[in-house]
Amino acid sequence: MKINKSSDHTSLNKNKMNYNVNEKGYYGAFGGAYIPEMLYPNVEELRLNYLKVMKEESFQEEFKDLLKEYVGRPTPLYFAKRFSSKYNAKIYLKREDLCHTGAHKINNTIGQILMAKRLKKTRIIAETGAGQHGVATATVCALMGLECIVYMGEIDIERQAPNVARMKMLGATVVPALSGSKTLKDATNEAIRDWINNPIDTHYIIGSVVGPHPYPDMVARFQSVISQEIKVQLQEKEGRTNPDYVVACVGGGSNAAGAYYEYLDSPDVGIIAVEAAGKGIYSGESAATSVLGKTGIIHGSKTLLMQTQDGQITEPYSISAGLDYPGVGPMHAHLYQSGRGEFLSITDDDAMKAGLELSQLEGIIPAIETSHALAIFKTRKFNPEDIVVVNLSGRGDKDLNTYIDYFKL
Ligand SMILES: *Cc1c(COP(=O)(O)O)cnc(C)c1O
Repeated sequence: MKINKSSDHTSLNKNKMNYNVNEKGYYGAFGGAYIPEMLYPNVEELRLNYLKVMKEESFQEEFKDLLKEYVGRPTPLYFAKRFSSKYNAKIYLKREDLCHTGAHKINNTIGQILMAKRLKKTRIIAETGAGQHGVATATVCALMGLECIVYMGEIDIERQAPNVARMKMLGATVVPALSGSKTLKDATNEAIRDWINNPIDTHYIIGSVVGPHPYPDMVARFQSVISQEIKVQLQEKEGRTNPDYVVACVGGGSNAAGAYYEYLDSPDVGIIAVEAAGKGIYSGESAATSVLGKTGIIHGSKTLLMQTQDGQITEPYSISAGLDYPGVGPMHAHLYQSGRGEFLSITDDDAMKAGLELSQLEGIIPAIETSHALAIFKTRKFNPEDIVVVNLSGRGDKDLNTYIDYFKL
């Protein structure tokens, strides 16, 4: 139906749900900026400027040029013939694994480094868990010749030695977080402390659609290039811009947000989000936030969060380091709560099998994060004529040791 401007807000809200952020930084009940007073000037500077900067023609030109010449976009939308015939649906893979550095994360770090330059920042900080976002950040800092400090939990530094070496080789300083559980959330605390102490010259590059407003919206916009390309590519291949379903794995939710972005307000496109069930949703070792989470505050934003009765954040678990996060971004919390998104979860075992299967059916070794999204076809059935786009968020090279151990290769 057509909604004219004079229609009152209740009917407008009833007929057209909005899945994007509002002016106050909320997605439904989720989002906002729950930050210490001392961080307010930094976040406010970004909030006041990010949309203005992104709209500048020179910004758009530089962003698009780097995505093309440096990242290698557009990434192909590949029709997976053998995988499709196995699961009896028309399955397309959006090949983010072919991006420079091997995953979608670079779309965001390119966007944010250009933002930082426009805001006259000379020093970049980031937090990283598995090291993938740290590598994507160190990469763009090298590209732009900016100082780069990456905070990483001491335990993660031990577990993720190859990515630590990559960051160092790219010229970044990797600072161990020694407090708490010495993992991602402690690294995040260190990065926030650094930002409070360096409000003028430093930009904090957050790696997913998490954190205080405007980060979730800014990161989603940078990643939205994924669904912009899908629209054009599907039009060429199928004569229509919209698939029946778009599927993505969700850690914090950035590759998913990018794949859904252009389709959020198109009810003909089903949105499927895949979380990590670890050893089973109720095993106590999982990262299935939508099922297990309750509203809480993490990383400066109100969202669904795995927590104990008294509000302590629960340690998440997944075989995949990129999905091992106790929350989801506020956009996804809203997609879940509003029913717009269909949320599924996949165990370690089923993900690993799906990764092996795609390798042998299509000659593509996916990241274990992505393998979760591929595993849904075993149980979630589609019609043979359904067009299903799966966002292939990253390549499996980084996960080879995990695949080797699991399959005794
Ligand atoms: C980091 C990562 C993810 C999870 O992060 P999102 O913000 O949820 O996209 C998924 N896939 C790959 C390959 C990753 O590197």
